[in-house]
Amino acid sequence: MSSAAATVVRGACPHDCPDTCALLTTVENGRAIKVQGNPAHAMTDGVLCTKVSRYTERTYHPERVLTPLRRVGPKGSGRFEPVGWDEALADIATRLQALAAEDPQTILPYSYAGTMGLVQGESMSARFFHRLGASLLDRTICASAGAEALTQTLGNKVGMKVQHFAHSRLIVIWGSNAIGSNLHFWRIAQEAKRAGARLVCIDPRKSETADKCHEHIALLPGTDAALALALMHELIVHGWLDQDYIDRYTLGWDGLRARALQWPPERAAEVCGVPVEQIRRLARDWGTTQPAAIRLNYGMQRVRGGGNAVRAIACLPALTGAWRHPAGGLLMSSSGHFPVRRAALQRPDLLGQRRPRTLNMSTIGDVLTHPGDAEFGPPVKALIVYNSNPVAVAPHSARVVQGFGREDLFTVVLEHFQTDTADWADYILPATTQLEHWDIHTTYGHTDVLLNRPAIAPQGQARTNTDIFRALAARMGFDEPCFAETDEQLCRQAIGDAQDFEQLLAHGFASLPIPEAPFAQGGFPTPSGKCEFFSQRLADQGLDGLPDHLPNHEPLGSDARYPLAMISPPARNFLNSSFVNVQSLRDIEAEPLLEIHPQDASVRGIADGGVVEVFNDRGRYRCKARVSERARPGVVNGLGIWWRKLGLNGTNVNELTSQKLTDLGRAPVFYDCLVEVSAA
Ligand code: SF4
Repeated sequence: MSSAAATVVRGACPHDCPDTCALLTTVENGRAIKVQGNPAHAMTDGVLCTKVSRYTERTYHPERVLTPLRRVGPKGSGRFEPVGWDEALADIATRLQALAAEDPQTILPYSYAGTMGLVQGESMSARFFHRLGASLLDRTICASAGAEALTQTLGNKVGMKVQHFAHSRLIVIWGSNAIGSNLHFWRIAQEAKRAGARLVCIDPRKSETADKCHEHIALLPGTDAALALALMHELIVHGWLDQDYIDRYTLGWDGLRARALQWPPERAAEVCGVPVEQIRRLARDWGTTQPAAIRLNYGMQRVRGGGNAVRAIACLPALTGAWRHPAGGLLMSSSGHFPVRRAALQRPDLLGQRRPRTLNMSTIGDVLTHPGDAEFGPPVKALIVYNSNPVAVAPHSARVVQGFGREDLFTVVLEHFQTDTADWADYILPATTQLEHWDIHTTYGHTDVLLNRPAIAPQGQARTNTDIFRALAARMGFDEPCFAETDEQLCRQAIGDAQDFEQLLAHGFASLPIPEAPFAQGGFPTPSGKCEFFSQRLADQGLDGLPDHLPNHEPLGSDARYPLAMISPPARNFLNSSFVNVQSLRDIEAEPLLEIHPQDASVRGIADGGVVEVFNDRGRYRCKARVSERARPGVVNGLGIWWRKLGLNGTNVNELTSQKLTDLGRAPVFYDCLVEVSAA
């Protein structure tokens, strides 16, 4: 699309958000002047969130890293000097080659969803590390507990089509502040509400979304499975079951029934810290309303029993036959619907006979401080970070910083900005933003594929992730033809024949052909083809084959020194640690905040707006108190994720979180964290 003065380029939002909006970037004289939502894309509907509508501010930010930088000060000092690409790449390749000659597993890639693009995410980078034989990374930091749980229950990360929520009569928004982090779903839920649907929000925090639902159930963190089991109890005793659906399309009903009968609402009310009437009312609503749907999100799986909780909740639609309706069922992630050709993109065959170890990104602090032994293998000696900011976002910051501070660790960071992580690098390599490169996007919140075309030339000396790994591959003598493929070729490979690439080129997006009610007659992608209340695959691993409530690692009341539970949901204008350095967004957030209930504040002499210290055995974090009923009694909300260096004392909430893991999926337990708070 173009006029004499301006060109409009179609793209996709790259951020870790289920909405994956279609973008229109207006370019004048080679400069992007405006980024808007594409009105032709139904999910986007012409609207972007506040964060990404400021994307040009981010792209042309005066602090953008635009040349390769080499460390000149001590580790972590954040002092660098510009260096040419040739010199930087030559030195990095030499260092990696020397380590690879010793043992390539001493090299660890670290990346996540800084871009959700399949090409700038994991394509050429994965080929490079596979060819090298580097350690593999277990990419667990956000969603793997829920992903594993969905896979064990429904067979994959699949669910109902998001647009059909508009026709639901009951919508349960479980573990999500949709207004802040799933805005376009919220628009659909509002449509349903206007048509008479009842909206229930389940969240320890009284979020902006909870404000606008008919009911808010403020359960204690880590008690979602108990609530789900009590709902099942009520469905059973009141006969609110679709026995025909259960008999035909589910597996393990007798066992689940027996377990649910152990959870009368009174027991769950005690565990969850909510009035028993709320549980009874929700059970009646769920059991007697059709079509009814659950929008489950990832907040609630960040506790020890997060996987079991997702399994329990994912059983609910089958019990009432909600899946029979297009507007009934559950959506947590739709990403399993997409036929992504990961092997073609990432080329694990380049490993040959080698089987490198896998290291968990959620315990990067322990990984980097491990001296090495027979079980762990060699210590990590080189870390290549891209699409991630682990020093800010990984749990137990003190340990993470200790790891990054090792003098003998060679660290390279591909980045747009000098983040908390980049401060610890030996080299920072300037990466392109979404406006400057090709990419192709699937999503976990709807069922469209989107193509991102470059709107402007790379700024300064920035290079695409793919180009940086291509260049490193060339310097290390990797001459397989796959390293010569262009980004446009990679975009075509990602989906293969499953999507008409010409249509993507012409329109920027295309919908997957998915049935309107995909599980109306079973057909779940599980081994049995049924919704698996009982999972033989889990039982074979020595785990409980049925979902259960597993108390937190750090249950409320278990340690008198730390009588408050802390969760750390995102501040509304940040997306994980992205956008914290965009001044206009930081101005809205103002300062790092801890929401604390008036009762908890008053017994501690904490005033609204006062500086507080939040602490436990792992560390101390300073921020401002917001005395507010957004926090329930006994639970504080540490809004994240601030860059440490932009916080009050060079720390953020992850100073307090632990490296313990979830029951399924080896994921972190950010919301399973006891603390105490005092006025500073
Ligand atoms: S962050 Fe989410 S809501 Fe905002 S533009 Fe990107 S996909 Fe859309």
